[in-house]
Amino acid sequence: MSERSEPAGVPGSGLVKGLAVTLKTMTKRSTTQQYPDVAPELPPRSRGVIALLEENCTVCMLCSRECPDWCIYIDSHKEEVAVPGAARPRQRNVLDRFDIDFSLCMYCGICIEVCPFDALYWSPEFEYAEYDIKDLLHDKEHLGEWMATVPPPPAHDPNGEPAKEETAAARKAAIPAAPAARPTAPPVRPEPAPGGTGEPGDGEGASE
Ligand code: SF4
Ligand code: SF4
Repeated sequence: MSERSEPAGVPGSGLVKGLAVTLKTMTKRSTTQQYPDVAPELPPRSRGVIALLEENCTVCMLCSRECPDWCIYIDSHKEEVAVPGAARPRQRNVLDRFDIDFSLCMYCGICIEVCPFDALYWSPEFEYAEYDIKDLLHDKEHLGEWMATVPPPPAHDPNGEPAKEETAAARKAAIPAAPAARPTAPPVRPEPAPGGTGEPGDGEGASE
């Protein structure tokens, strides 16, 4: 039978160490937050819920196709819009349905990243738990209401790179304007010889 190896030390020192940890912890301030009595201090860009800015949505379907959980449901129809001066009316997509099922969503943010028209945003609101899982399907009106809770975009970094549009505009302004082209005088047609047609070769020289 093998003997258990005990760490060398004064007998009872382990007990004293344990009590010291207990005393230290007892005198420390607790870090537990008493939610919901105390609201948590979340970063302003927390991923709480997705908000929809309906007027920016062109029904391109990119978000729905890229969503790994297939939890975005979009329906639309086409509408003709008369354009003054245009020969034919223009067609545009009208959004009928835009639902996100938050019981399936995994908050990856891909839909927000891929939207080319800035129609989807993160809101830090997270208190939308429901007793019935079916109520976690938010329709476009509900998603639109979350827009009021989306924080404003951060201020531009003064040391950051300028936007490429600004750089292009500055470059364009630096190019000196080309001198205006002088109007060229219209070619003078020779007077037709008496009895001639005025065509080249039809004149005095041709009659010789
Ligand atoms: S956050 Fe991710 S899972 Fe949720 S709707 Fe967007 S793409 Fe789908
Ligand atoms: S990607 Fe953006 S614009 Fe396209 S359907 Fe989705 S929300 Fe609308």
